[in-house]
Amino acid sequence: MNSSTAVGRRSGRSCYHFGTVFDKGEARANSMKVPVWNPAVEFLEREALERLQLANLRKTVAWALKTPFYRRRLAEVGLHRPEDIASLRDLRDIPYTTKEDLRESYPRGLLAVDLEQVVRLHTSSGTTGMPTVIHHTQADLDAWTELVARCIVATGASRRDVFQNMTNYGLFTGGLGLHYGAERVGMLVIPASSGNTSRQVQLMRHFQTSVVHATPSYLLHLHSALMDEDTDTSPPSLRKAFIGAEPHSEETRRKIETLFEIEAYNSYGLSEMNGPGVAFECLYKTGLHLWEDAYLLEVIDPDSLRPCAEEETGEIVLTTLQRQATPLLRYRTRDLSHLVGGHCPCGRSHRRLARIKGRSDDMLIVNGVNVFPSQIEEALMKAPEVGTNYLIQVEKRGALDRLAVKTEVHAALFAGDARVLSDLRERIAERIRAAVLVKPSIELHEPGSLPVSEGKARRVLDLRPAF
Ligand code: AMP
Ligand code: ZN
Repeated sequence: MNSSTAVGRRSGRSCYHFGTVFDKGEARANSMKVPVWNPAVEFLEREALERLQLANLRKTVAWALKTPFYRRRLAEVGLHRPEDIASLRDLRDIPYTTKEDLRESYPRGLLAVDLEQVVRLHTSSGTTGMPTVIHHTQADLDAWTELVARCIVATGASRRDVFQNMTNYGLFTGGLGLHYGAERVGMLVIPASSGNTSRQVQLMRHFQTSVVHATPSYLLHLHSALMDEDTDTSPPSLRKAFIGAEPHSEETRRKIETLFEIEAYNSYGLSEMNGPGVAFECLYKTGLHLWEDAYLLEVIDPDSLRPCAEEETGEIVLTTLQRQATPLLRYRTRDLSHLVGGHCPCGRSHRRLARIKGRSDDMLIVNGVNVFPSQIEEALMKAPEVGTNYLIQVEKRGALDRLAVKTEVHAALFAGDARVLSDLRERIAERIRAAVLVKPSIELHEPGSLPVSEGKARRVLDLRPAF
């Protein structure tokens, strides 16, 4: 039975449905109206969803076997053909894939298609400067766009909205990922990219922006900028924000909602899994629906690697189910969360993740940018003047994160011209910026003046409030 109504601004592809499009067993949602992009998939019964997952897992294994990396990896566990996967449980025999694996396969060891079929690549930062690369075919980009369109419509946003995308366009996936999804929905997209706050405000006011996408810290920063203006109000057209790319608390969400008088929805994604569009909150904000036709979800204990029970916090492990050019099997995201039990009132069958609680590795997220302490150390140690002891400190300055690196340098430097020290500070800051894309402030200290820890050195001090 399909009793949905398309309510798009333009005719053509019927795109928004108000969710009375359910197979049997969906009576719980029939009484309410939820906006839906792809009802056939979003309300798929679990049994049918699992059949689809199994078929897609086999396809994914077939693609993976085309890469030198997985041919070797899968042969080690006796997996030579996609048919060797008899059920979804067989996934557990497949070894995990890590960020290190991606790094070691740089640049094309994980490419499963001919280069002529690749139309784009994205990279994200790696632990020691070597990025991880994800290649996409046109079909991969279309599938990604479809997922993002689902997320956008699930929040109640539609082609009537003006969407200002305040995240970085380029190798980072937040810009282009949301961009194409929003265009697919038919929104009017303003590709503002990140930064330049006064221009962001001007664009919002001139074009009546109604939906924005930004990191939560940037939105809070934007709000202070708005308050500094003479008009002292946030743009009245604004009604929704998609917030993600960095850990944040429920309190931060509420603060954004209250300050701007809008609804804010949590968006989770990572470049290894395309970027945004992996999991998103719907209108009900009861957790982030993870698109299970596109990603096979596991939550494991990061130490023992055993599967976690529902509601038990562990590391999210994801397998791509639709990606041709860079299939990834059991990718350890290092993000910590848990599965939310029960059903969402929206009626979608795709399970929900609780907001991300943190990471199981030492990666820091500074204003939405991933930073590994080892990258900073590497950049720091390239300066011959630098001693052995250093400290990386992250704190809040207003709404934004501030990265500071304190390092000991040779004593002789303090006896000479002050300009030598300021030049060195600038050189180190630039070198770190080139490595991690965030420019830190640098403090230079005399040898022996930074605290020395007994036992394992404590190199990172994260002073931001717990979220
Ligand atoms: P990137 O690969 O640069 O897109 O960074 C992805 C990482 O950002 C994820 O693995 C998470 O650690 C973090 N992240 C993305 N979205 C969220 C979110 N909504 N909440 C918390 N952390 C997030
Ligand atoms: Zn829902």
